[in-house]
Amino acid sequence: MKLWRRRERDARAKEGAAPAAETVTRLLGRCQICEREQKLTTTEPHLLVLHGYKRPGWGEVVGSCFGVGAQPYEVAFDRLVEYLPVLHNHGAMLQKLIGRLSQKIESLKGFDFPSDEYSERYKLEMDLEATNNQLWHLGKDIARVENRISNWKPSRIRSFEEIAADVRAKKESSAAERYAARSAKEEKIAATKAKQADLAARRHAIVESFRSQFIELAQRGDVVSAHKLYNEMMKKKYSFFNSYPRELGIDSVLEQLGLATPSAYGGYNYRRYV
Ligand SMILES: [Zn+2]
Repeated sequence: MKLWRRRERDARAKEGAAPAAETVTRLLGRCQICEREQKLTTTEPHLLVLHGYKRPGWGEVVGSCFGVGAQPYEVAFDRLVEYLPVLHNHGAMLQKLIGRLSQKIESLKGFDFPSDEYSERYKLEMDLEATNNQLWHLGKDIARVENRISNWKPSRIRSFEEIAADVRAKKESSAAERYAARSAKEEKIAATKAKQADLAARRHAIVESFRSQFIELAQRGDVVSAHKLYNEMMKKKYSFFNSYPRELGIDSVLEQLGLATPSAYGGYNYRRYV
């Protein structure tokens, strides 16, 4: 060991401080009282370090939290048990104050003196309202503390690293979820596109098939078969067959087979489906 290190260690020992650890495990624990995650002392038993306290029942930040110096909620609830009478005492104090304020307000009623009396009573009424409000919040806090005591279950104190890893894992899993959702959406769009393309290809194949059959029948002069085929084509339950004869693009062939007649306005009229 280097001399300065030894000196440092000896100095620390003299001061009563713990020797500097080679690796410091940083621990976090949830405060029994304020429920926030706070740093813990490194040596056993791990205790909550100094932190502030803010609860509506007490108004503003009240110095240090009652949970400072206690073990975290993961391993103990003793400080909550000690805290209950403190809250009840505070409640009794508030109730006394409410009684005094109410009495005073009552005693001022009926004295319809000008503004002075009125403003004093007004001020007292405001105080009364604020105190009642505090008492209400205090009741909520007492219920919360009782709940925490009866629902307490031991758990493990975790390190900064573990908590950070947890946060990271949560972030990663939500990113994975978002990615999966996006891929699913893209897949759905692609499937719809594929379906549309498939439909168009089938339609094209059917059109091609009918066209070549009509041309062949016209070449053979088989009008009877052509009319049968025409009816068969028009019976097809696809909506696109409504414009089918035009879609075939063989008007003169259809005319030759007696299935189309030139219209007076140019173009062709097609035979009705029978
Ligand atoms: Zn606290």
